Amino acid sequence: MIDSKLPNVGTTIFTTMSQLAAETGALNLSQGFPDFDGPQALRDALSRHVAQGHNQYSPMTGLPALRQQVAAKIQRSYGVKVDFEREVTITPGATQGIFCAVQTVIRPGDEAIIFDPCYDSYEPSVELAGGRCVHVQLDPQNFAIDWQKLSDALSPRTRLIVINSPHNPSGALLGRADLDRLAALIAGRDIYLISDEVYEHLVFDGRQHESVLAHEALYARAFVVSSFGKSYHVTGWKTGYVVAPPALTTELRKVHQYVSFCSVTPLQYALADFMAEHPEHVEALPAFYQAKRDFFCDHLAASRLRFERVGGTYFQLVDYSQIRPDLNDVDMATWMTREHGVASIPVSVFYQSPPEGQRLIRLCFAKREETLLQAAEKLCAI
Ligand code: PMP
Ligand code: GLN
Repeated sequence: MIDSKLPNVGTTIFTTMSQLAAETGALNLSQGFPDFDGPQALRDALSRHVAQGHNQYSPMTGLPALRQQVAAKIQRSYGVKVDFEREVTITPGATQGIFCAVQTVIRPGDEAIIFDPCYDSYEPSVELAGGRCVHVQLDPQNFAIDWQKLSDALSPRTRLIVINSPHNPSGALLGRADLDRLAALIAGRDIYLISDEVYEHLVFDGRQHESVLAHEALYARAFVVSSFGKSYHVTGWKTGYVVAPPALTTELRKVHQYVSFCSVTPLQYALADFMAEHPEHVEALPAFYQAKRDFFCDHLAASRLRFERVGGTYFQLVDYSQIRPDLNDVDMATWMTREHGVASIPVSVFYQSPPEGQRLIRLCFAKREETLLQAAEKLCAI
């Protein structure tokens, strides 16, 4: 028998729930992806570039035109200049970027602090590098950082902290004061930061995304990760990027070039064209997804689910304790898929040890209105 390097990893909940939704014909509000297509012009650009023969390897660091567009978008969004040659690397998905950033800084025996509930790819990446994750729980009510817990978790072995805002699965946002506090806490320590900002453009109610890119002290030690999949409605394109100061980028690229070498070429051409022609696309995203959140939440108001509208991401957390307090969230998600035709994600899977009695599931609202309406009707009938 092979001695597993990841003995605690099985099939991810995203695969499990999407499969169950497909088997049962349930509406799939589990795994996070839109049920509508990316912009026509973007898809046309891909066909054009494939037809024009842009089908061989791209530069290891990413197509210069796309890296330039990323730098231009960063300047427009956050008012900061990054050097596309020395600080921007295109990766085959944010997941690969995170993996490479972890391998860049974690050595055997190092500790990485992650916040629960936590996206599932961080811990295996740390373990494969020989490190160990120290889990710090976010406040179970509002998913804010508990600074005392974070401070207690720091040790001389802490080499990395992973933050994620807007936060999957809760939709919580870090504010400027949080970034300042984090910077003060780790000042003078040999700690790197991965800032997972894949939902950077999905921020609602007039709030602004506080990017680590615009925080000088944190950026000096950070890998900031984003995903074209989220911002351009093409999760299956698995293309993302990592922005980091030149010295960190140099080391990150040494890893990236042996994990994948480069990212898919025609996708990068298509994204570069689309970003150049439609800079307004990302600016429209907050209103676009806020309308979906509100449409869904308005129609859920008559249900026995309890919720507070999320501040960001395309996920809505709902508390089902008025419906089936007897079921844990994994059983609830399964029961709801099988018996009521709506698939969701149980929140406990994002924890090392879930808070006692928590009754939360996550619903993805990156869906057409008709899907959201049908789902809300089904959920109101439970
Ligand atoms: N981080 C978070 C928080 C996510 O929700 C996702 C979504 N899949 C990713 C990273 C990975 O993005 P990608 O699909 O570009 O690898
Ligand atoms: N990020 C997506 C989610 O949270 C899933 C990505 C995946 O399937 N691994 O639903």
